Amino acid sequence: MKRLIIANWKMNGSIHLIQEFRSLKKIPGTEAIICPPACYLPLFSDTLMKFGAQNCHHANNGAFTGEISALHLKELGCTYVILGHSERRTQFNETDSVVNHKAAKAIEHGLTPIICIGETYAERHENRFEQALLSQIDRSTHGLPRHQYVIAYEPIWSIGTGLVPTSNDIQTVINLIQQRLGTHTPIIYGGSVNDKNAADLSNIPGLNGILVGGASLNVTTFQSIIDAFQA
Ligand code: PEP
Repeated sequence: MKRLIIANWKMNGSIHLIQEFRSLKKIPGTEAIICPPACYLPLFSDTLMKFGAQNCHHANNGAFTGEISALHLKELGCTYVILGHSERRTQFNETDSVVNHKAAKAIEHGLTPIICIGETYAERHENRFEQALLSQIDRSTHGLPRHQYVIAYEPIWSIGTGLVPTSNDIQTVINLIQQRLGTHTPIIYGGSVNDKNAADLSNIPGLNGILVGGASLNVTTFQSIIDAFQA
């Protein structure tokens, strides 16, 4: 499978930035997917870029002011949707159960959910991270076909901090996930990925790609990250 290089623009970006990203080059062995704020998604439909969303609701439609459904995303041409990002879990009270329902709905409509899991700084340093990650995996992926979603390992202490786990530590978590889910579920890493550390990350066995936040907001930097994952 191609390695996934996911850009999570969060609540950033602009029409101008989308124009700049039109120059992004396709690199063999990789698939770049841009996840902009939802209001910009239609602007991607006449580009050659693959694109996805940062969230969706667990219902098809209804009285849910401000929400967007997987059906809407599918209609716009999205292929992926990020679910359970730690910012949504902590700031918008998303539980594993909510993430699970959203992921099921996304799959029902032909989208691939990118289900984020990750331990806190305290869980890592008190050596409780394995238990925390397994609990998130079990509850967030319950009942979902294992080849129809992606797991993004995003340690919370690494997001936006410049701190990146060692390759060995990432490898340990990949092994843990594979022991739980088998080898049919693609696993990607996210947290302070940039053009300096992408090459090292690309060498981690079993890693199917990366999720990039801050460094995905500059087309030159993002292109360098994709290049580092060339097959
Ligand atoms: C993220 O929030 O998904 C992320 C990976 O952020 P950053 O790359 O900025 O750490």
